[in-house]
Amino acid sequence: MMDLARLDREYVWHPFTQMREWMGREPIVIVSGRGARLRDARGREYLDANASIWTNLHGHRHPALDRAVQRQLGKIAHVSALGLANEPASRLAERLVRMAHEHGATEIGPELGRVFYSDDGSTALEVALKLAYEVARRTGRSPRPRFLSLQGAYHGDTVGAVSLGHIDLFHRAYRGLLFRSDAVMAPYCYRCPYNRAKPERMDAREYRRCAWECLGQVERQLTRQRRKGHPYAAFVFEPLIQGAAGMIPQPPGWLRQATDLARSHGALLIADEVMTGFGRTGCGNQGATEPALADGRGQRGREASPATVSPQTAVGGRLLACQAEGVQPDLLCLAKGLTGGYLPLAATLTTPEVFGAFLGDYSEFKTFFHGHSYTANPLGASVALASLDLLESAGSCRARTRLEAVLRQELRTLWTLPQVGDVRQVGLVTGIELVRDWRTREPFPLELRAGTRVCEAMARRGVLTRPIGNVVVLMPPYCMTTNEVRRMVAALRQAVRSTLGRRA
Ligand SMILES: *Cc1c(COP(=O)(O)O)cnc(C)c1O
Repeated sequence: MMDLARLDREYVWHPFTQMREWMGREPIVIVSGRGARLRDARGREYLDANASIWTNLHGHRHPALDRAVQRQLGKIAHVSALGLANEPASRLAERLVRMAHEHGATEIGPELGRVFYSDDGSTALEVALKLAYEVARRTGRSPRPRFLSLQGAYHGDTVGAVSLGHIDLFHRAYRGLLFRSDAVMAPYCYRCPYNRAKPERMDAREYRRCAWECLGQVERQLTRQRRKGHPYAAFVFEPLIQGAAGMIPQPPGWLRQATDLARSHGALLIADEVMTGFGRTGCGNQGATEPALADGRGQRGREASPATVSPQTAVGGRLLACQAEGVQPDLLCLAKGLTGGYLPLAATLTTPEVFGAFLGDYSEFKTFFHGHSYTANPLGASVALASLDLLESAGSCRARTRLEAVLRQELRTLWTLPQVGDVRQVGLVTGIELVRDWRTREPFPLELRAGTRVCEAMARRGVLTRPIGNVVVLMPPYCMTTNEVRRMVAALRQAVRSTLGRRA
């Protein structure tokens, strides 16, 4: 075994990894990358098919991003934000505020005018959670604030973020450490008990037959809580698509209507755009599937009205998932793609109302007592600024739109596989749900590790990604070429055939 691999096996503990299994084999040691490609210590090349766990936007070693880091290194790498301001962080805050309003959702919600920095997605959520908690108490809206989030939600691994999550497998071990939050039905058209449609060879959102029962449940839960005299402090959601829940996309109109309901019942909106932010969900205003759907959809007047969706203004297209349906949250959490996948940096944007609840004389102790040693890190902020420059260029939007179309085209080839039950794409995020037989939707038992085995077979074909249970994730860096997309999808196709082909 190579020296580097040996060091890893001996000393490193990997996240979300059964280390007994890990220690039983030689790990892939990545030593360099360029564009959508990664190279290992043995000189083998791979496609980075999940954008280095959903973080990378423009590819590895992008010259403009490299330059931004180097330029900032020539000045200073880090300085504390406790008591000091720094140039890149101040500039970035202004740019983020502008980005949050670029697509004209301001008439719908309050202005996101203030940026609180932290280090990663979990801490961005932790900040939002603490702010919403305090606001609910200080405004007298609720003495014991409670939170509502979606079934299957994942919002990070710190204790507060875990409390907002509802993935039992990850979270049950820590139950004694957590506070209670409520879960409400998320739209998961492919496995929705209210969907009366038989499986077809297309995204389940496009052929579903329902009466928006999921929204009915959101409404009931909000009403129930309000009748107790304490409306929810906040409704926490991932807009357009839930990531770690299994790449579960929302049918068009769900986001707008669910958030309208939450707001009308007195809850603040916490949008977790840790995965969906920075152009991941497409450039246009319609982030979800395009065509109008048949049957049952018009009931309760729940269609998103096109009039509520604002026109695009910036050449770079919209960068946030919320903007696809004109939703303006009270708290917006950004991380993963914020630095283009270069450095750990996160931001929680919020409104004058939330900010104002923490203003007062020092002796009132209304200060937000929260912060991290690396808050507002100048290197991270510099590369984030360079990444925004790229994203907001006309060329970037064109390239992303084209990549989205190529991906859509290639993914169609998967429908010939009987083990492909659902293919879900929102912009440049895709989840492919593997099943025993598409006609029955029968899932593979988790112990069979169907998703993992398929991804291992893909790795042998030079394509790296990670599954979520039986869902294989494809999330290319925006620089991926047409040929690379073809190779990526072909590797998945062959891996499904070779791994699950006859009898799994
Ligand atoms: C990854 C992720 C998080 C957690 O972010 P970390 O940077 O891993 O702490 C939170 N929410 C969503 C939607 C995510 O995808």
